[in-house]
Amino acid sequence: MVKVFIDFDGTITKKDVGANIFLEFGDREKAYEIIYGFRDGKLTATQTWDELLKTLKDPDEVKIREYTMGFEIDDHFKDFLRFLREREIEFFVISDGFKFYIESIFEREGIEAPFFSNDLKFVDGGLELVYPYTDEHCTKCANCKRNHVVSLSGDHQYSIFIGNGNSDVCAALHCDYIFAKDSLLKYCELNRVSYYPYRDFREVQARITELLGKKRLKKRHQAELLRKKLYMQG
Ligand SMILES: [Mg+2]
Repeated sequence: MVKVFIDFDGTITKKDVGANIFLEFGDREKAYEIIYGFRDGKLTATQTWDELLKTLKDPDEVKIREYTMGFEIDDHFKDFLRFLREREIEFFVISDGFKFYIESIFEREGIEAPFFSNDLKFVDGGLELVYPYTDEHCTKCANCKRNHVVSLSGDHQYSIFIGNGNSDVCAALHCDYIFAKDSLLKYCELNRVSYYPYRDFREVQARITELLGKKRLKKRHQAELLRKKLYMQG
């Protein structure tokens, strides 16, 4: 049985919505500095979002919402979801971005998909970050994607990860098959992790169709070891 985990920003959407909010409405230079700090491992994911939030001057809810609605999704994503449903393959969107725009973009596109994410809440006179799924031992993502992957898939299942960024690394390493582009692809290349490069969901769908045609799906041994290690830690 196959389970699919999908990143949102830069994977389902063509560009990163979350990071761009701060580049657009915050101090651009500072925001880049913070984003690079995260990329280089100097900041944890929650620190990164917290610091980015500080760069926003007079955040305007209407303008921010309007801005996030300008982001397009992958041209083949809806076909891909139809394909997964036809094959009765369970899927989850796991994002280190924010609920408010994921919800609105899905609604605009008529997409119904289960997802887990952080949130950026518009409260009196400002914005508040909410992290419902942090893991105190994990610094790579604010919404610990790895924990979702491990708790939502069992050892009898074959987990597939589709992503593009730094916050996908940890979760992807715990999955049996990795579709990667951008920073996630670079990470896999540098660290000799086997992955399948993709540009859009049409390519992902074609490859998954091939995989489903195989007699037996071979799990990534490194992922099995990492999952085992996690279970042992309890
Ligand atoms: Mg991403």
